[in-house]
Amino acid sequence: MNAAPSLREMSCADDYDPDSMPVDRARMLIRQFLTPVTATERVHVRFALNRVLAEDVVSPLAVPGHDNSAMDGWAVRFADLRQDAETQLKRIGESFAGKPYPGTLGAGEAVRIFTGGVMPGGADTVVMQERATEIPDGVVISAGAVSKAGQNRRFAGEDLQCGQVVFGAGQPVRPAELGMIASLGINEVSVYRKLRVAFFSTGDELRSVGTPLAQGDIYDSNRYTLFGMLSRLDCDMVDMGVVPDIPAELERAFATAAANADVVITSGGVSVGEADYVKELLDKLGEVLFWKIAMKPGRPLAYGKIGGAHFFGLPGNPVSVMVTFYQFVRDALLVLQGRSDVTQIPTFKATLAAPIRKMPGRTEFQRGVLAPNGSGWNVRTTGDQGSGILSSMSRANCFIVLPAESGNVAAGELVDVQLLEGLI
Ligand code: AMP
Ligand code: MG
Repeated sequence: MNAAPSLREMSCADDYDPDSMPVDRARMLIRQFLTPVTATERVHVRFALNRVLAEDVVSPLAVPGHDNSAMDGWAVRFADLRQDAETQLKRIGESFAGKPYPGTLGAGEAVRIFTGGVMPGGADTVVMQERATEIPDGVVISAGAVSKAGQNRRFAGEDLQCGQVVFGAGQPVRPAELGMIASLGINEVSVYRKLRVAFFSTGDELRSVGTPLAQGDIYDSNRYTLFGMLSRLDCDMVDMGVVPDIPAELERAFATAAANADVVITSGGVSVGEADYVKELLDKLGEVLFWKIAMKPGRPLAYGKIGGAHFFGLPGNPVSVMVTFYQFVRDALLVLQGRSDVTQIPTFKATLAAPIRKMPGRTEFQRGVLAPNGSGWNVRTTGDQGSGILSSMSRANCFIVLPAESGNVAAGELVDVQLLEGLI
């Protein structure tokens, strides 16, 4: 059951304005059409890194499996200890991690214990070794070394209980999850299959690296930034190269891409003038909407379906490609990958170190450099913000997000920033 309207129905909605689409609205509209992959595969735990769990992981055991010591020290009975004077106890053995003491502690007895060592029967507390002095056949515990029973002791199941759902389907597997899964003794998990993403660049002027440039030609960089961003998201990629602005060739490329991938991403060819015949073409092949997003950079954006594939037609300018990818495509891919935790990119406030000129009307994603200022963070732009200046992305460590309604911003004001590190 899918209650979402069709793309065509949506384009007739009252508040739908393809010529002035707010960023949030575009994100929301796209979200309605995303149906995550359902196919799964079983992989060895290490190959699950960066993938999304397709089944709940249920703990087959308790972690830790036994009460054990959190410190190097002495396992004792709390009731034996005097708070107001030293206590002398008899040493009856040792408990190492992986080599427990087999017996049980009686009154007046202590077991030398090391971090991770199983608590011997009869002991309820660990005295850290710094509060104890070893003597022949025994130990002297200083007065008030522990204040309550159970100190410095880890309890069986305090991290995970047997039968507990540790991770739900939809959980991305990061290093911590890998470790947790391994700690349960599980060596294989079920994950969603990887997303297949086909991409190509459009433009008569584009040449691929390794070929000479004629007058007016430029090298295609968008397929490289896309390759990088998609690699970080662990997608399977089909790089279809450069396609010239020739309708028959474009048609063939769109059809091939859609037939071979879950998602098709192109750059270029969606700006005024070029969009017209691309539009005609895509009308024939699928349902695609052309939007002018109220943002800078990244104004023209096409989104829709070609056959069963999702299509993102990104602008041609290299910075616009990266900004629209991070603001729209990344989230969409995460949802399609089956992740259940997809939220907006987090923003936090930083102090603007130098003024920014801005006209109200569009959300701007300026490239910024964050630097610590002692008590918090200062941010300044990377300088020239032209959408063709890819070095601005390379110098940046954040986006400075200026809302549509905002005008000029003075130095010292707080602005929203999104970290570039961590977007993966
Ligand atoms: P377009 O959206 O096709 O009008 O392209 C906008 C600008 O981006 C033009 O200056 C193009 O030459 C440039 N551009 C388009 N595609 C690429 C690409 N793949 N690599 C580098 N620059 C590009
Ligand atoms: Mg072009």
